[in-house]
Amino acid sequence: MKITILEPRGYCAGVNQAIEMALTARKNHPLLMVNVLGMLVHNSYVIAFLKQHDIGLIKNIHEAPNGSAIIFTAHGHENKDEQIAKEKNLVIYDAICPLVKKNLATIAKEKENHHQVIYIGYPSHPETLAAISSNTNVYLYSIGQTFDYNVISDASPLIINQTTLNILSLENIHQDIKNHLPKARLQDEICRATRNRQEALLQLEEDVDAIIVVGSEKSSNAKRLYEIAQSVHPQVDAFLIESATELPKEILKTKRHIVISSSASAPLSLIEEISNELVNLKQL
Ligand code: SF4
Repeated sequence: MKITILEPRGYCAGVNQAIEMALTARKNHPLLMVNVLGMLVHNSYVIAFLKQHDIGLIKNIHEAPNGSAIIFTAHGHENKDEQIAKEKNLVIYDAICPLVKKNLATIAKEKENHHQVIYIGYPSHPETLAAISSNTNVYLYSIGQTFDYNVISDASPLIINQTTLNILSLENIHQDIKNHLPKARLQDEICRATRNRQEALLQLEEDVDAIIVVGSEKSSNAKRLYEIAQSVHPQVDAFLIESATELPKEILKTKRHIVISSSASAPLSLIEEISNELVNLKQL
């Protein structure tokens, strides 16, 4: 059995930065309760790691005790949460990924210039919620749904997107927008960490008979990799798993060549553990 681990692997820069910031918040405020509003990044290993460092997770800003420390996630946060955090006198740490922050700044600039913005994303993803809450001129193009072009009065709106989309889906959506709004300004904001991982899967040329995507079902990044593995390599068995215990060993032990792809929030140690399990499988 041959095992190939695709690059890139391990945390992206945004995830590394978010984890560092959470640890800094903990270190700076040893006497305060420190919580993250939502999942710092979408991976349960990271959440467990933070818990070991006494960094909690709350789902609603109202759960944070007055005067405690709050960490906003790598995906961005809604404006209302920041207002409430200030009212509750919380110590704020903002772990937003610099690329997500840059997109929010671009959207704000469009408002100053009186332009409308079409934001392409998943409606319940925190990055999308942060973007559409940032500006009244932003209209959501929900993935998988038909966009109502009647709401757009601007001949050349800015088109921007969630950073972790499927690169093939985004091409199709851009084409749809060009058909309706030929002067729209298309801006592709899929981040490099996402793009490079998807391209590595798209470019697989070798004879492969199983693809394992390491990542959480909650991770947009991981789900898009799984989507690409299934749609571009339909003849290959693909699995999305978050831990080595989820490996479908009975199926995998018959395979000749297994490829491991991994999301930007999957730790290197987990990828190594899964790879070692596969090596052991080979020796059974
Ligand atoms: S996946 Fe991309 S957007 Fe998300 S944290 Fe990493 S670098 Fe930033």
